[in-house]
Amino acid sequence: MNVEYVYLQLYRLFDKSTPIAADCGRLCDKRCCHGDECGMYLFPGEERVFKLLKPDWASIEKSDFVYEFDGKKKSVPILFCKGSCDRYQRPLACRIFPLTPYINDEGKAEIIIDPRAKSMCPLAKTLDTSDFDRKFFRNVKRAFSVLIKNREIAEYLKSYSQYIDEYKKFFKE
Ligand code: SF4
Ligand code: SF4
Repeated sequence: MNVEYVYLQLYRLFDKSTPIAADCGRLCDKRCCHGDECGMYLFPGEERVFKLLKPDWASIEKSDFVYEFDGKKKSVPILFCKGSCDRYQRPLACRIFPLTPYINDEGKAEIIIDPRAKSMCPLAKTLDTSDFDRKFFRNVKRAFSVLIKNREIAEYLKSYSQYIDEYKKFFKE
Protein backbone atom coordinates (compact mmCIF):
# COMPACT_ATOMS: atom_id res chain seq x y z
CA MET A 1 0.00 0.00 0.00
CA ASN A 2 1.40 3.41 -0.98
CA VAL A 3 0.32 4.76 2.36
CA GLU A 4 0.99 8.46 1.78
CA TYR A 5 -1.18 8.38 -1.34
CA VAL A 6 -3.95 6.67 0.66
CA TYR A 7 -3.79 9.36 3.36
CA LEU A 8 -3.92 12.12 0.78
CA GLN A 9 -7.04 10.55 -0.76
CA LEU A 10 -8.67 10.10 2.63
CA TYR A 11 -7.89 13.69 3.62
CA ARG A 12 -10.16 14.81 0.80
CA LEU A 13 -13.14 13.22 2.54
CA PHE A 14 -12.81 16.01 5.10
CA ASP A 15 -12.17 19.00 2.87
CA LYS A 16 -15.85 19.92 3.04
CA SER A 17 -17.20 17.52 5.62
CA THR A 18 -17.28 18.89 9.17
CA PRO A 19 -18.50 17.54 12.57
CA ILE A 20 -21.74 19.53 12.48
CA ALA A 21 -23.47 21.55 9.75
CA ALA A 22 -22.47 24.87 11.40
CA ASP A 23 -18.93 26.18 11.85
CA CYS A 24 -18.23 24.74 15.30
CA GLY A 25 -15.10 26.89 15.59
CA ARG A 26 -17.44 29.83 16.18
CA LEU A 27 -18.95 28.07 19.19
CA CYS A 28 -15.69 27.84 21.04
CA ASP A 29 -13.25 30.12 19.24
CA LYS A 30 -11.44 27.08 17.82
CA ARG A 31 -10.40 25.78 21.21
CA CYS A 32 -8.86 22.63 19.72
CA CYS A 33 -6.32 24.76 17.86
CA HIS A 34 -5.33 26.91 20.83
CA GLY A 35 -2.10 26.76 22.75
CA ASP A 36 1.42 27.74 21.88
CA GLU A 37 2.07 24.25 20.64
CA CYS A 38 -0.71 21.80 19.75
CA GLY A 39 0.42 18.23 19.27
CA MET A 40 -1.41 15.51 17.38
CA TYR A 41 -0.35 11.89 17.06
CA LEU A 42 0.08 10.83 13.46
CA PHE A 43 -1.20 7.45 12.32
CA PRO A 44 1.39 4.94 11.04
CA GLY A 45 2.88 6.09 7.76
CA GLU A 46 1.21 9.50 7.92
CA GLU A 47 4.52 11.25 8.60
CA ARG A 48 5.44 10.42 5.00
CA VAL A 49 2.69 12.79 3.86
CA PHE A 50 4.41 15.60 5.72
CA LYS A 51 7.79 14.68 4.27
CA LEU A 52 6.14 15.20 0.88
CA LEU A 53 4.22 18.38 1.72
CA LYS A 54 6.91 19.97 3.95
CA PRO A 55 4.49 22.44 5.58
CA ASP A 56 6.24 25.40 7.20
CA TRP A 57 3.68 25.54 10.04
CA ALA A 58 4.40 22.04 11.37
CA SER A 59 7.19 20.13 13.04
CA ILE A 60 7.25 16.41 13.74
CA GLU A 61 8.93 14.70 16.67
CA LYS A 62 9.05 11.21 18.10
CA SER A 63 6.75 10.76 21.10
CA ASP A 64 7.01 8.52 24.16
CA PHE A 65 4.02 6.54 22.93
CA VAL A 66 5.35 3.25 21.59
CA TYR A 67 3.60 0.37 19.83
CA GLU A 68 4.89 -2.95 18.59
CA PHE A 69 4.74 -4.21 15.03
CA ASP A 70 6.45 -7.30 13.58
CA GLY A 71 8.47 -7.69 16.77
CA LYS A 72 9.81 -4.10 16.62
CA LYS A 73 9.00 -1.24 18.96
CA LYS A 74 8.00 1.92 17.12
CA SER A 75 7.57 5.43 18.47
CA VAL A 76 4.43 7.26 17.34
CA PRO A 77 5.29 10.55 15.62
CA ILE A 78 3.61 13.66 16.92
CA LEU A 79 2.95 16.73 14.79
CA PHE A 80 3.18 20.13 16.44
CA CYS A 81 1.63 23.30 15.06
CA LYS A 82 1.42 26.78 16.51
CA GLY A 83 -2.36 27.08 16.36
CA SER A 84 -2.72 27.72 12.64
CA CYS A 85 -2.25 25.60 9.54
CA ASP A 86 -3.19 25.12 5.94
CA ARG A 87 -6.60 23.47 6.30
CA TYR A 88 -5.91 21.27 3.26
CA GLN A 89 -2.72 19.93 4.81
CA ARG A 90 -3.87 19.24 8.35
CA PRO A 91 -3.36 15.72 9.72
CA LEU A 92 -6.06 13.10 9.97
CA ALA A 93 -6.40 13.47 13.75
CA CYS A 94 -7.47 17.10 13.26
CA ARG A 95 -9.85 16.22 10.43
CA ILE A 96 -11.75 13.65 12.48
CA PHE A 97 -11.67 15.53 15.81
CA PRO A 98 -13.49 15.09 18.18
CA LEU A 99 -14.12 11.55 16.95
CA THR A 100 -11.57 8.79 17.02
CA PRO A 101 -11.21 5.14 16.02
CA TYR A 102 -11.33 2.57 18.80
CA ILE A 103 -10.99 -1.21 18.97
CA ASN A 104 -13.60 -2.40 21.46
CA ASP A 105 -13.51 -5.35 23.88
CA GLU A 106 -14.80 -7.68 21.14
CA GLY A 107 -11.90 -6.62 18.93
CA LYS A 108 -14.18 -4.69 16.57
CA ALA A 109 -13.31 -1.26 15.20
CA GLU A 110 -15.74 1.49 16.03
CA ILE A 111 -15.84 5.27 15.99
CA ILE A 112 -16.28 6.98 19.35
CA ILE A 113 -16.12 10.46 20.77
CA ASP A 114 -12.50 11.00 21.75
CA PRO A 115 -12.39 11.10 25.56
CA ARG A 116 -9.34 13.39 25.29
CA ALA A 117 -11.61 15.98 23.67
CA LYS A 118 -14.12 16.06 26.51
CA SER A 119 -12.27 18.62 28.61
CA MET A 120 -12.22 21.24 25.87
CA CYS A 121 -14.59 20.57 22.98
CA PRO A 122 -18.25 21.57 23.43
CA LEU A 123 -19.31 18.97 20.85
CA ALA A 124 -17.48 16.18 22.66
CA LYS A 125 -18.96 17.29 25.96
CA THR A 126 -22.57 17.45 24.87
CA LEU A 127 -23.20 15.32 21.79
CA ASP A 128 -23.64 11.64 21.19
CA THR A 129 -22.01 10.07 18.11
CA SER A 130 -25.48 9.97 16.49
CA ASP A 131 -25.71 13.78 16.76
CA PHE A 132 -22.73 14.39 14.50
CA ASP A 133 -23.24 15.26 10.86
CA ARG A 134 -24.06 11.92 9.24
CA LYS A 135 -21.75 12.45 6.30
CA PHE A 136 -18.89 13.41 8.60
CA PHE A 137 -19.45 10.34 10.77
CA ARG A 138 -19.65 8.08 7.71
CA ASN A 139 -16.44 9.58 6.34
CA VAL A 140 -14.57 8.90 9.59
CA LYS A 141 -15.86 5.33 9.50
CA ARG A 142 -14.93 4.95 5.85
CA ALA A 143 -11.41 6.33 6.39
CA PHE A 144 -10.66 3.78 9.10
CA SER A 145 -12.31 0.90 7.29
CA VAL A 146 -9.68 1.55 4.59
CA LEU A 147 -6.74 2.19 6.92
CA ILE A 148 -7.35 -0.85 9.11
CA LYS A 149 -6.66 -3.10 6.13
CA ASN A 150 -3.01 -2.14 6.63
CA ARG A 151 -1.52 -4.62 9.11
CA GLU A 152 0.61 -2.05 10.86
CA ILE A 153 -2.26 0.39 11.30
CA ALA A 154 -4.50 -2.43 12.57
CA GLU A 155 -1.84 -3.35 15.13
CA TYR A 156 -1.26 0.27 16.10
CA LEU A 157 -5.00 0.81 16.68
CA LYS A 158 -4.95 -1.89 19.36
CA SER A 159 -2.24 -0.02 21.33
CA TYR A 160 -3.94 3.30 20.61
CA SER A 161 -7.23 1.95 22.01
CA GLN A 162 -5.50 0.88 25.23
CA TYR A 163 -4.14 4.41 25.49
CA ILE A 164 -7.65 5.80 24.88
CA ASP A 165 -8.95 3.49 27.65
CA GLU A 166 -6.90 5.46 30.17
CA TYR A 167 -8.84 8.61 29.25
CA LYS A 168 -12.15 6.76 29.13
CA LYS A 169 -11.77 6.01 32.84
CA PHE A 170 -11.81 9.72 33.61
CA PHE A 171 -14.63 10.63 31.23
CA LYS A 172 -17.14 7.83 31.61
CA GLU A 173 -19.70 7.75 28.76
S1 SF4 B 1 -13.02 22.31 20.05
FE1 SF4 B 1 -14.72 21.11 19.18
S2 SF4 B 1 -16.33 22.66 18.80
FE2 SF4 B 1 -14.39 23.76 19.02
S3 SF4 B 1 -13.58 23.96 16.91
FE3 SF4 B 1 -12.67 22.11 17.82
S4 SF4 B 1 -14.07 20.46 17.12
FE4 SF4 B 1 -15.18 22.38 16.87
S1 SF4 C 1 -2.82 21.40 12.66
FE1 SF4 C 1 -4.38 22.92 12.19
S2 SF4 C 1 -6.34 21.95 12.70
FE2 SF4 C 1 -4.69 20.79 13.74
S3 SF4 C 1 -4.53 21.71 15.79
FE3 SF4 C 1 -3.02 22.74 14.45
S4 SF4 C 1 -4.13 24.55 13.71
FE4 SF4 C 1 -5.67 23.13 14.51
